[in-house]
Amino acid sequence: RVKLDITYHEQRDEQLESIYETTDSYKSVIEHAIEEEQFVPYYQPIMIDDEKQLYGVEVLARWQHPEKGLVPPNQFICFAEKNGLIHHIDEMVCRKACHDMKKLIDELGRPFRVSVNTSALNIVNGKFVERLQSILDDTGFPADYLSIEITETSLMENLKDVAIIMEEVQRMGIRISIDDFGTTYSSLNYLKYLPIDTIKLDQTFVHDVNENTVDQRICETIIRLAIDLELNVVAEGIETEEHLNIIQSFGCRIFQGYYYSKPTTVEGLEEFF
Ligand code: C2E
Ligand code: CA
Ligand code: CA
Ligand code: CA
Repeated sequence: RVKLDITYHEQRDEQLESIYETTDSYKSVIEHAIEEEQFVPYYQPIMIDDEKQLYGVEVLARWQHPEKGLVPPNQFICFAEKNGLIHHIDEMVCRKACHDMKKLIDELGRPFRVSVNTSALNIVNGKFVERLQSILDDTGFPADYLSIEITETSLMENLKDVAIIMEEVQRMGIRISIDDFGTTYSSLNYLKYLPIDTIKLDQTFVHDVNENTVDQRICETIIRLAIDLELNVVAEGIETEEHLNIIQSFGCRIFQGYYYSKPTTVEGLEEFF
């Protein structure tokens, strides 16, 4: 299983890495980009009940490359995970997002949830809680409105250690989501042992939900499970009204996808509002 995952990651990182020929030079390019703070947050709205009500935003990393322009996460996240650099990127993007969203919340005069992605690798990486606290202290962003989406949970080794840290994060007032739910080995275990607030129903299940009965049953079952466990469930990858209607009919109330908006800059988000 681990082997399979690694092959998949390498495929995803191939394009840009090949430009730099070797892993070593790509690593130094990313290290340089970290020093130059070239990683920036984009924001995608998350809606509740219908189009009119904003639930929050998901923060998605982009690499603002001086020559290549905006580089998407599939060309640096997995590489950064494999090379011990991911916590720098996650921290930078989270800090910038908390700063920007604190400002926007103050301007709008009403709070909304801000959800940042964190690789499971970061959590057991020692300073996770201290780093989060320092971001909250420095930016003044309210902990109650911050969510952490745990991605790449397959990289989580010791659930007991992870649980202790997550409980500490929860005590700070921060919510915890499991990303891409259902796609990772033993994800039901996470619901049993970790203080989870929200499940993110992966877009691969939503994509063909209008025509594939297996996907329909999977979506319905995951949503039912979330409701039974009194967890929030967010459906990712809502692209059409048909997607929305079907997923809604299964009892899900929180939606995210191109149907509403693609990930955008702060300015784009202000326009969306
Ligand atoms: P994810 O967390 O599952 O994020 C959702 C992805 O789906 C995003 O891709 C988003 O742009 C895309 N998306 C949103 N709505 C739709 C839709 O309706 N249709 C389709 N086809 N796609 C949609 P993106 O921004 O390329 O991010 C890819 C992945 O990279 C994320 O998947 C997440 O796992 C990872 N990632 C992004 N930012 C960060 C970060 O700051 N830290 C870490 N550790 N991982 C990140
Ligand atoms: Ca993912
Ligand atoms: Ca996510
Ligand atoms: Ca996903």
